[in-house]
Amino acid sequence: MVLGYVLFVVLPFWAVKKYLAITVLTGESPVLYFYCYRNKERGFWYSLLYALLEGVSSEMQIERRDLDGCLYPMPGNPFGNPALILYDDVPGGAGHVRRLARGDTFKKVLKASLSRLQRCECGGARGSASCYGCLRHYRNQFCHDDLNRGMAMRFLSSLF
Ligand SMILES: [Zn+2]
Repeated sequence: MVLGYVLFVVLPFWAVKKYLAITVLTGESPVLYFYCYRNKERGFWYSLLYALLEGVSSEMQIERRDLDGCLYPMPGNPFGNPALILYDDVPGGAGHVRRLARGDTFKKVLKASLSRLQRCECGGARGSASCYGCLRHYRNQFCHDDLNRGMAMRFLSSLF
């Protein structure tokens, strides 16, 4: 699939705040790596991944079922964070997700991801839950119990 490209091609570097920067690496698919932010909770990274996929779907008008993503461990990096890989889940790859690296698309996607989480009400004000209105999808059933709207929401809010 896409993993062979992960470490080799670096596209736009987008500094959000001085303590946090995001690199979008891309070959066939965008690979997101969040520097200068450390989190060891798998649930956090899955929550962020699935929040972003929803944001990509709504902002870039790609059917959610045509998209997917995974966490990619990056051994040897100083923070221990996985990279997030987003890809077109259609035969042959549609090339849609690559547009994420264009212009300010990624920033808009982050905002769309955040606003979906903010609109949901599961888990109360802290958002200590997830549902099909925010993060859950039939394809991420393997981690439904780990998905946490609040964790992803607080992180995404900190970017703006
Ligand atoms: Zn929800």
